[in-house]
Amino acid sequence: MMQVMNKVNNYIYILDNKIYVNLTNACTNDCIFCIRKQKNDVKGADMKLTQKPKFEDVVEQLEEHISLLGNGVTFCGYGEPLIELDLLLKTAKYIKEISPDTKIKVNTNGHANAFHKKNIVPLLKGCIDEVSISLNAQNESLYNKLCMPKITNAYNEMLDFAKKCVENNIKTTFSIVTNYDKEVNSYECKKIAEKIGANFRERPWIENGY
Ligand code: SF4
Repeated sequence: MMQVMNKVNNYIYILDNKIYVNLTNACTNDCIFCIRKQKNDVKGADMKLTQKPKFEDVVEQLEEHISLLGNGVTFCGYGEPLIELDLLLKTAKYIKEISPDTKIKVNTNGHANAFHKKNIVPLLKGCIDEVSISLNAQNESLYNKLCMPKITNAYNEMLDFAKKCVENNIKTTFSIVTNYDKEVNSYECKKIAEKIGANFRERPWIENGY
């Protein structure tokens, strides 16, 4: 089901009857396939944020869709959600308080430990059920070509973050975008996922996004 929200600062948006959270437009990558380069909206909901979200504003928008909480909540949006770590954790804990069975997932580029200069994975335990990490490539040079990271050693930082998630028993899935760059080798990427005990998902490139 699609729901169109025309308000500014959509911290919450709905896709397929599920709640998604958009906390930031900042990102430590600049992927050549990033949908943000093409359009500002997801299903009509403007993803561009004009101000940093306050917890109260996120909760207010969340409560407009309280009946959908049981379908799960995903932190994603037009930016890297773990950049807003404190707000993400506060929001996730609030959701678990009011709806303990709600599964909470974070779609991330896996740079959070490098960005925050500490291991943040233990902080996710107990409030984040699953992380989906953008592997995107089977090696560093292809990753750098596709993702144009703004931090050093980004590929290895991402792999290390994924390992730590697995070690902390957080359900971990590596994803790649297929049908975009023919150099991306699904088989090799899947082997990387298997080696660390992560799941693997291919996400077909959608030309105009959602
Ligand atoms: S990591 Fe995600 S939000 Fe960041 S540039 Fe890449 S596709 Fe866009």
